[in-house]
Amino acid sequence: MKGVGPARAAVLAEHGLTTVYDLLQYYPRHYLDRTSVTPIRNLKINASATIIGQVRAHGMLFGKKKRYEVMLEDPTGAIMLLFFGGLRFWEKTFKKGQVYAATGLVGYFLGLQMVHPDLERLDDESDKMVHAGRIIPVYPQRSELTKVGLTSKGIRKLTTQIFGMLSETIPDPLPPAELSRCKLPGLHASVTHIHYPETREQIEQSRRRLAFDELLQLQYYVFRSKGAKDVIVKGHSYAEPGALVRRFGKEIPFVLTDEQKIALREIVADLRQPRPMSRLLHGEVGSGKTVVAVTAAVVAAENNLQCAFMAPTEILAEQHYRTWHDRLANVGVESGLLLSKLRPKQKTAVAEACARGDISILFGTHALIYDYVQFARLGLVVIDEQHRFGVEQRGKLYAKGDSPDLLIMTATPIPRTLALTLYGDLSISTIAGLPPGRLPIRTVWRTADTRDKIYQFVEDEIKAGGQAYIVYPLIDKTENQELESVEEAFEQLSQGRFKSYRLGLIHGRLAADKRDATLEQFRDKKIDILLSTTVVEVGIDNPNATIMLIEHAERFGLAQLHQLRGRVGRGPRKSTVVAVAHPPLSELAEQRLEFFAAHFNGFEIAEADLMLRGPGEVYGIRQAGLPELRAANFATDKDLLDSARGVVEKLFSTGTLDGAYKNLVNYLETTAQGRDVHLGGG
Ligand code: ADP
Ligand code: MG
Repeated sequence: MKGVGPARAAVLAEHGLTTVYDLLQYYPRHYLDRTSVTPIRNLKINASATIIGQVRAHGMLFGKKKRYEVMLEDPTGAIMLLFFGGLRFWEKTFKKGQVYAATGLVGYFLGLQMVHPDLERLDDESDKMVHAGRIIPVYPQRSELTKVGLTSKGIRKLTTQIFGMLSETIPDPLPPAELSRCKLPGLHASVTHIHYPETREQIEQSRRRLAFDELLQLQYYVFRSKGAKDVIVKGHSYAEPGALVRRFGKEIPFVLTDEQKIALREIVADLRQPRPMSRLLHGEVGSGKTVVAVTAAVVAAENNLQCAFMAPTEILAEQHYRTWHDRLANVGVESGLLLSKLRPKQKTAVAEACARGDISILFGTHALIYDYVQFARLGLVVIDEQHRFGVEQRGKLYAKGDSPDLLIMTATPIPRTLALTLYGDLSISTIAGLPPGRLPIRTVWRTADTRDKIYQFVEDEIKAGGQAYIVYPLIDKTENQELESVEEAFEQLSQGRFKSYRLGLIHGRLAADKRDATLEQFRDKKIDILLSTTVVEVGIDNPNATIMLIEHAERFGLAQLHQLRGRVGRGPRKSTVVAVAHPPLSELAEQRLEFFAAHFNGFEIAEADLMLRGPGEVYGIRQAGLPELRAANFATDKDLLDSARGVVEKLFSTGTLDGAYKNLVNYLETTAQGRDVHLGGG
């Protein structure tokens, strides 16, 4: 294409854009037209808006926070645009007289302002737009793309070029009968209008069509994986659980809840089937999934089969091992632990014992997937916190056995409808409640200006013998200076407000062994306050941690807030979570915080999250090896989900398909082959 040299091609490729069709699937984020623009005079504070104005003045401002300021003016008023970070870039970008559309949250400080708005330069287009009523697509703005000139406008030039190059229409894989049944426009029209709509209605119609295709691909893929698995027969079958399992039951220091018992029964029934189990055990943080999985491992042991039990962090693997080793040993089940940090000799010893079959349950991290780890008779693979692993990692472990049974666990509760689609190739067991005796966690949200009080509260709690987490969203300030940075906070707090306390720091850029060492110190009460990014989300069981502050809570999704909250409330003392929000807050953010403070059930939270935050983001769809959703929205497109499911069922059930449907199958096969790994990775 014209205008795409090696530099741009490389950056585009990094964003998964390597073909012309990829670019056509890079959909606009929003659209500008007369109806979407607000005159500056009518702006409402704390609401998002788009304005169009001319640069009146611009310059660097020094002061407490260095920033670049741009004054944008329209016939009704003026607003200040503020940029922190990337200052040089902004300095080079703005010229007096340029016309921009800016979209963002309107704030007020000595005047109207927007911090880091989405920008769209419109010098030569504003007239067309305003006068001819055109609708202009605005593409997602990514800083790496912007740096090579692929601003929204740059992308627009490319898409315009593509449509100019097309000499024929894009063939439509959907049979005409389905198009009319589902009331959807054709593919060519939809692709054209998602980029260059003539009316607002066209945008939504096109989006629905493209969303339908995504959901169709997704479900086809899931059905296909399911079908493939039905024909496999595993090399082992289980007997009814017997004396060993009963003896182990007596080692468990508590009584299983009814939900745990049901989950266990489902798992055992599935293990006894001649085909391999693929089961998802989900239940929120602290619901007690581990004991269920460990019992399943004992069932395997009783059948003379080994279990590989993989956890995402060393500390978690170690915790499982420490908790269960002796209890297992008491009933004659040998367990082992394999971590990368062990000395080579130790690793070899564990691996050899495992290969001989002397170890029945091997706990470990991703260290388990290395080639030197072999099993004599791997029968069951358990993957804890599955979303922390890539499909490939899970697959490698799975491949060490002869069609072993698979149990994967996640603490992200998934609404049922969605689970059926996303994990259609898995059976599902759910633990919806928590074990008895847990004290409810008090959750409040406060604005940052009450911080003194909040810190005092933390201090009181520590004096009373508790420990605290303070969670921050980012590890440094490069993205936005307004955000607290965990490193900086650590400096400040350890020398200032919490000088007389022991502080620890963990974040994702620390080496795993350092991170684990700090977590261990925290667990052993050698640290009073643990400052961290969201890496604590998956982690240790520290019943003595009774307080959690979540800084910039407005930045987190509901599910993530809830997940973080699960770190406290594990002991006999009442715990408190304080979500610290930094205004200005959007209406949506406030809603989210209110909901968070008022709800404790992970499934309610998951449903709400889906509604508030929308599509793909929530469930890391891409990570699961499933196609990314660009146009579809699980929360609002349930009707499309159903229609697409109907089409897929037709494809898989009909004996003879007519030509149009065969085309569709060919098309879906091609898209599915690119990602030929299902969730279980087997
Ligand atoms: P998760 O589902 O998040 O993995 P865990 O399995 O780590 O949760 O369990 C959390 C805590 O609850 C553990 O300390 C565990 O010992 C305890 N627990 C699990 N089941 C029960 C139960 N039925 N009664 C009492 N405590 C339980
Ligand atoms: Mg767990």
